[in-house]
Amino acid sequence: MKIVLATGNKGKLREFQNMCEAEVVAFSEILGKIEIVEDADSFKGNALIKARTIYEKLKDKNAIVVSDDSGISVPLLGGIPGIYSARYAGEEATDKENLHKLVEAVKAQGVEKTPAYYTAAIAIVSRHGEYVVHGWMHGEVLSSTRGEKGFGYDPMFVPDGYDTTLGELDDEVKKSISHRAKALALAKPIIKMLQR
Ligand code: IMP
Repeated sequence: MKIVLATGNKGKLREFQNMCEAEVVAFSEILGKIEIVEDADSFKGNALIKARTIYEKLKDKNAIVVSDDSGISVPLLGGIPGIYSARYAGEEATDKENLHKLVEAVKAQGVEKTPAYYTAAIAIVSRHGEYVVHGWMHGEVLSSTRGEKGFGYDPMFVPDGYDTTLGELDDEVKKSISHRAKALALAKPIIKMLQR
């Protein structure tokens, strides 16, 4: 039974390929480029939009479609950038532009650090129904950046229990505590069950 990933991200594809004992393909290999409007008001909603849209377009109704949506929320700023994390500094913004906009927003509050959390929602759509699981990673964002590792907002994020940013921490450490790792751990038994 084929698993179709609703992502073009090679890193995410590799993570899933390692996890599943089945053929894992990116949707673009089957459907080419398709525009998906992610206009829900939650990570869960946007993950479901992606997975449903792709499942509906597939001829193979035995396929299992898996999608994810993620971002960072800062309660002091009313929860932003949240679902807008990827386009916080504009539709075509780079990770660096988004990061620096958030650093400036935290600085403008006159604090050096404030609580924040990453969320990952994974949606699974199959002929047996729809499932959504979440994972979170709590910590603090700084009004400055430290380190070059990770991606996105990692250089300004210090996870709970650490005093270094994700920009300074090794990928292996991040993999063991991340929002995506936690959501994947929950998604795994669901996907296994649907494969039977
Ligand atoms: P998407 O889920 O691929 O749409 O990513 C959403 C955006 O959230 C990314 O572009 C990043 O800006 C941010 N983001 C999600 N997860 C992480 C993470 O683990 N580290 C840093 N930034 C992240």
